[in-house]
Amino acid sequence: MTANSGVHQLRFGSSESAVRRAVFLDRDGVINRKAPAGQYITAWEQVEFLPGVAEALRELKLRGFLLIIVTNQSAISRKKLTVGVLETIHQRIAQQLGQEGAGIDAVYYCPHEPSADCQCRKPRPRMLQQAAEERGIDLSRSWMVGDAASDIEAGHAAGCRTIWLRPPDFNDQNPPTADFSTDSIRAAAAWILSAASTEK
Ligand SMILES: [Mg+2]
Ligand SMILES: [Zn+2]
Repeated sequence: MTANSGVHQLRFGSSESAVRRAVFLDRDGVINRKAPAGQYITAWEQVEFLPGVAEALRELKLRGFLLIIVTNQSAISRKKLTVGVLETIHQRIAQQLGQEGAGIDAVYYCPHEPSADCQCRKPRPRMLQQAAEERGIDLSRSWMVGDAASDIEAGHAAGCRTIWLRPPDFNDQNPPTADFSTDSIRAAAAWILSAASTEK
C-alpha cells in the first residue's frame, strides 16, 4: 500500500443512486470500546461493543438511514495491523450488528499516519464525501456521530449535522461544538430520529 493512495473501504451493500440519508459513525469510542491511549485494536478479540449500540443503530436503520462507519486506522501505516486483519474485524463487526438488525452499509477507513497529510484522515471530510458520491447520500440530511473533535470537524466540513458522544473520561475545558452532545448512543439516535420526523 502506498501512502496517500486514497480512501480504503469495504462495502457490504449495493450502491444505488437514489438520494439517501446516512448516519456516519466513528468506530472506536462509538461502536466499540476504545483501546487505551497509545494503543490500537489489532484483533477481533479486543472488540467490545459499547452498550446500546445495536439497539440504537437498529432504530436508525428502520427509519431508512444508511449506517456508515468512517474510521482513522493509522495502525495500518504504523505496521501494527494488516489490512487483512482490519477488514476481518470490520466484517465481523458488521456481521454481528447485522444479526441484530443494525446492518452496516459500508466501512471507510483511513490507513495513514497524521504525518502523511492525506485527504482522508479525519478531521478532513474526504471519507464522508466519497461515501456520498458512491452511494447517493445527501450530506445535508445526514449526521456524523463521534467521540473526538476530529469527528465533529469532519462532519461539519462535509456539511452534515453532528453529534458529539462525550467520552466517559472527558475532562477538557473545551468540548467540541456539535449540534447535539450526549454520553449515550441511544440518546444520539433519538435526537436524529426526532429531527428526521420534522423533515421530509
Ligand atoms: Mg473515536
Ligand atoms: Zn488517509
